[in-house]
Amino acid sequence: MCIFCKIVSKEIPAKIIYEDEDTMAFLDINPRNRGHTLVIPKKHYETLDEMPDEEMAKLMKTIKKVIEILKPLNFDGYNIVNNNKPVAGQEVPHVHFHIIPRYQNDGDVV
Ligand code: 5GP
Ligand code: ZN
Repeated sequence: MCIFCKIVSKEIPAKIIYEDEDTMAFLDINPRNRGHTLVIPKKHYETLDEMPDEEMAKLMKTIKKVIEILKPLNFDGYNIVNNNKPVAGQEVPHVHFHIIPRYQNDGDVV
């Protein structure tokens, strides 16, 4: 089982900030900026192209919810990053979107 599937099944802990039937969002263990969050489908897909459209739509809804949840951090902008396959920088082979809040003058974060 992959590490994110283990987070879904609560076999390993994570700072979960949002969860519903199909999706989950938790803080990145090695944050690139304050509030760096990962949003995943609960079902295991390795890359984006494997995901049915309906699952993608659910994931996008969760991304928007998480941006709302993070708003008390008073970020000034944010990056959404999704890496597919090791050549593109994917380390965990379970689809995830990085939400990386950005703050004025925070430098070379992404
Ligand atoms: P990738 O390079 O695959 O796009 O990003 C994987 C991300 O997952 C990295 O930012 C890394 O810090 C994060 N990560 C890896 N293992 C764990 C873990 O066990 N828990 C949490 N919360 N994040 C993890
Ligand atoms: Zn998985």
